Amino acid sequence: MKVSKKVVVVTGAGSGIGRALVAELLARGAAIAAVDLSEEGLEETAKLHGNPPELSLHVANIADRERVEALPDEILAQHGAVDILINNAGIIQPFVPFAELDFEVIDRVLQVNLYGVIYMTRAFLPHLMEREEAHLINVSSMGGFMPFPGQTMYGASKAAVKLLTEGLYAELMETCVDVSVVFPGAVATNITTNSGAGGHVPEDAEDSSLEPLPAEDAARDIVDGIEKGRLHIFVGKDSKLLNMASRIAPQKSVRFIQKQMKKRLQGDRANPLL
Ligand code: NAD
Repeated sequence: MKVSKKVVVVTGAGSGIGRALVAELLARGAAIAAVDLSEEGLEETAKLHGNPPELSLHVANIADRERVEALPDEILAQHGAVDILINNAGIIQPFVPFAELDFEVIDRVLQVNLYGVIYMTRAFLPHLMEREEAHLINVSSMGGFMPFPGQTMYGASKAAVKLLTEGLYAELMETCVDVSVVFPGAVATNITTNSGAGGHVPEDAEDSSLEPLPAEDAARDIVDGIEKGRLHIFVGKDSKLLNMASRIAPQKSVRFIQKQMKKRLQGDRANPLL
């Protein structure tokens, strides 16, 4: 399904991949309802494109079910319909082992990454079902199929998003709604700061074979995947390689990642996804 002339709801549109998705979708002729917790972030996204009339801004916390349930009416009043929903907003956890995580953090990660996607999907699915063709896209992570020590709750939330999306793909197969799940590898964004997760990119990061992908490249690959109707959209060489490794040698690949991450877990506790 081409995105041109479609109305697309994008969560997390005030930064990183979401902001780059807005640029990519506008360039391909879509209208966009941009949703984010951060009003400042949304305004900055709009400013980058000269506040075009086909872009509307909606400040909302996706973990607040009542607020999410009010969003469809607000967006329909401005755009008349919704054809595509991209559940992109998400947060990482502080880079600490599971046993050291506060329940407050565990709850927040699940509320945003899992319940946020559930609330948005339940609120917009009836409207997607009314269209001739529609598409639901959920952003998981390579951390949703491969464990990264220090991001165990994040990974668990993203694995839940993977299965939730695959279940929806199966359930909606004979309807007008196509479904995709995205597995980005490392993408250069401010997710660590935005998530309040602390840490910093270690000095050796530039030597890493996991060079983060620019957000613009990630957005282009995601929209290409949507237009091709892919169920699984792997973004970046790292995500594609780890997907293969996890299938060919599941236990060995977990050990490989554990070794790569050990230094960071013991040492500077930086974001392992960057
Ligand atoms: P980002 O922090 O740059 O952007 C995320 C946006 O989501 C922010 O603008 C933030 O304000 C918004 N947001 C956070 N919580 C929200 C809430 N409760 N309600 C509404 N908006 C909220 O992060 P990003 O790197 O662009 O991440 C986008 C998605 O990609 C996330 O789901 C993330 O888990 C996933 N991802 C990112 C990477 C990476 O390396 N950056 C890798 C794998 C997966």
